[in-house]
Amino acid sequence: MTQHRITLLPGDGIGPEIMAVTVQILEAIAPRFDLEFVFTEALIGGVAIDATGNPLPPETLTQCQNSDAVLLAAIGGYKWDNLPRAQRPETGLLGLRAGLDLFANLRPATILPQLIDASSLKREVVEGVDIMVVRELTGGVYFGQPKGIFTDETGQKRGVNTMAYTESEIDRIAQVGFETARKRGGKLCSVDKANVLDVSQLWRDRITAMAPQYPDVELSHLYVDNAAMQLVRAPKQFDTIVTGNLFGDILSDAAAMLTGSIGMLPSASLGAPGKPGVFEPVHGSAPDIAGQDKANPLAQVLSAAMMLRYALDQPAAAACLEKAVITVLDQGYRTGDIMSEGMTLVGCQAMGEALLKALA
Ligand code: NAD
Repeated sequence: MTQHRITLLPGDGIGPEIMAVTVQILEAIAPRFDLEFVFTEALIGGVAIDATGNPLPPETLTQCQNSDAVLLAAIGGYKWDNLPRAQRPETGLLGLRAGLDLFANLRPATILPQLIDASSLKREVVEGVDIMVVRELTGGVYFGQPKGIFTDETGQKRGVNTMAYTESEIDRIAQVGFETARKRGGKLCSVDKANVLDVSQLWRDRITAMAPQYPDVELSHLYVDNAAMQLVRAPKQFDTIVTGNLFGDILSDAAAMLTGSIGMLPSASLGAPGKPGVFEPVHGSAPDIAGQDKANPLAQVLSAAMMLRYALDQPAAAACLEKAVITVLDQGYRTGDIMSEGMTLVGCQAMGEALLKALA
């Protein structure tokens, strides 16, 4: 029996509801794959602020660092929106990414045939879309120095952020991009703004220099404005996209929306080999529906599947969860966010029960 230590971070809003369903599912599949999960819950976000005054208590970070993987739900809510930045829930999330050195964020955007009509784009444009966005997560303009709001010599305020990447930062994310493309359709598109930004020119040079190591991967480059356009014009041309922090933030949300519902999208954030990754849904804490048993737990369940595949090396167990998700959709079960005519509307718990039945 293989034992895996998983830190659970349910967080705020709908987080505890979707986490409860996901833990049930993981426990249900464990014996089938001869796995033992040792779950330990820890505080992050608003609940951590309420309990300790800190959105990422040091014991949470230590707990995460000592586990094999971290399963996170979502953080944030109206209650904490007006706190100083250092005490906001989002600061806890950034601290977790930095503390675990999670430099690579993998976000799949896959159109499921059962949900094709939930997309805002035409069926023929999105049918068959299967994109993986690999976003650099710990560098670029969100972290570059100097940053801040300064007063210049004329007394005028000036806001400053710095977009910077070192060669090694580019090389390690490029490597994740190439390796990911190699395991998928063998096509990697690097997105930058090399026609204007020096930092992007270095990005493009390093990625191009790495390409000969991956002769089986077809590399292309796009400027970010064109990439945004192509994503909504002809998304099927993309297989794997690798890009920096800011561009990845925007493009991964646009790619996500091709699929119709944010309640369906998982993500993985990976650090150095052997270090724990964080697996979480793309959506937030949905405070508007929290505590009402309306949340869609499928993105959280699919995040657990990514955890099984990328962190715990259990592809068969991952495929089993993914299959259960397809089965419940085929059976017509829908939460409110993906509901359409003729389908059966269910809440979060009932969706969990349908998943358990599908697994059985
Ligand atoms: P959100 O993703 O929480 O919600 C956007 C809309 O999608 C809402 O109408 C919500 O009801 C719906 N939705 C989201 N997830 C759903 C699900 N699983 N099932 C059904 N419907 C779902 O984004 P927001 O409203 O911009 O942010 C709410 C809070 O979440 C804010 O405090 C924000 O800072 C935080 N947030 C956290 C994360 C994270 O934890 N990684 C990400 C984004 C936003």
